[in-house]
Amino acid sequence: MADLILKPGKERSVMRRHPWIFAGSVDRLEGRARAGDTVLVKDAGGKPLARAAWSPESQIRARVWTFDCEQSIDHAFIKRAVAASVARRAAHPWLATQDGVRLIHGESDGLPGVIADRYGPVVVVQLTSAGADKWREAIVAGLVQATGCSAVYERSDSDVRKLEGFGPVSGLVFGEMPEQLTIVENGVRMEVDVAGGHKTGFYLDQRDNRLLTGQLAAGRDVLNCFCYTGGFSLQALAGGAKSVISIDSSGPALATAARNVALNPQLDAARAEWREDDVFQALRTLKTEGRKFDLIVLDPPKFAPSAAHADRAARAYKDINLLGFRLLNPGGILMTYSCSGGIGLELFQKIVAGAAADVGIEARILHRLSASPDHPIGLAVPEGEYLKGLACQV
Ligand code: SAH
Repeated sequence: MADLILKPGKERSVMRRHPWIFAGSVDRLEGRARAGDTVLVKDAGGKPLARAAWSPESQIRARVWTFDCEQSIDHAFIKRAVAASVARRAAHPWLATQDGVRLIHGESDGLPGVIADRYGPVVVVQLTSAGADKWREAIVAGLVQATGCSAVYERSDSDVRKLEGFGPVSGLVFGEMPEQLTIVENGVRMEVDVAGGHKTGFYLDQRDNRLLTGQLAAGRDVLNCFCYTGGFSLQALAGGAKSVISIDSSGPALATAARNVALNPQLDAARAEWREDDVFQALRTLKTEGRKFDLIVLDPPKFAPSAAHADRAARAYKDINLLGFRLLNPGGILMTYSCSGGIGLELFQKIVAGAAADVGIEARILHRLSASPDHPIGLAVPEGEYLKGLACQV
């Protein structure tokens, strides 16, 4: 096994149990390693610190599997880590009963580059690092054993893989897929397209925030922007919304949303209106139509994938939030999100405050929102916190 020797002083982040070793911290590799092989990380004086997966192509040159250097990284280690992650979900009362739940959330679950989402009998895996790719078989075997699932589908088609020098991999890796896959989330049935949907098929991270939206929606006129397959919209209908207008630019997502409405005969479909449009445009159209709402959800895609895009993204966030505030009735609530890693909570709150100030209205934060607990944030990995939201009342 090769040794990865850090430059003097560069051991500090590893000592704080941060799992990433950047190219700039690496002094040299002693011995040979191929992509994904385990290397022993040592400080400049030769003291062992961690065992990590070697990623020669990535700026993140190694990702730590364990800080216990006595531990060998093998099939059994990976399976144990998978089982422990699954067990943490089973032990949480909000998660144990869910059809749709994230079982492994990468670094925060001690499995860098590994995402696994369960949708009923199907588990979808996404492997984005060289180390994760190398241990595919153990990860899949671990998931099958820990969940008893009937199928594992791989969706390793995220762009992040390119940074590791890997191409996209998608397809069934275990078992058999059911003809149609649906989950029940907070009493609402939703279709999940694991092969063609966004991410692994569904945005599980917003589960609790969708529930809150439903609770706040009773008797209200609701606007759901960037609705995807209608998650927030259907929760609002279930919560007794008076009307729900939903907007997305994706025809296929709206087609799924229509099927989701049909899957839930308990909901009053006549209260829902769906518009295929660009949200930036649609918000201006609604303004000229003189429409007003009591509850508005803004859940846009990642405008800033990294801090380098923060400026442009900040303008886009400000724009939609400004337009959102303008469409609120007095007492109305804006539920606004950013899933950009490059925009922190503090900056996001400033942007939203700036939007309210420009519109000339007073607003207050009722709820600070984040991803559901199956998307935990490793204490040592604060940059894992990507989703942030504010529920602001005017
Ligand atoms: N709120 C959703 C997830 C939203 S994902 C849920 O809970 O499931 C972001 C969505 O924004 C995607 O469906 C994408 O199609 C849509 N989108 C991206 N840019 C857009 C734009 N400019 N106008 C309208 N929709 C857009």
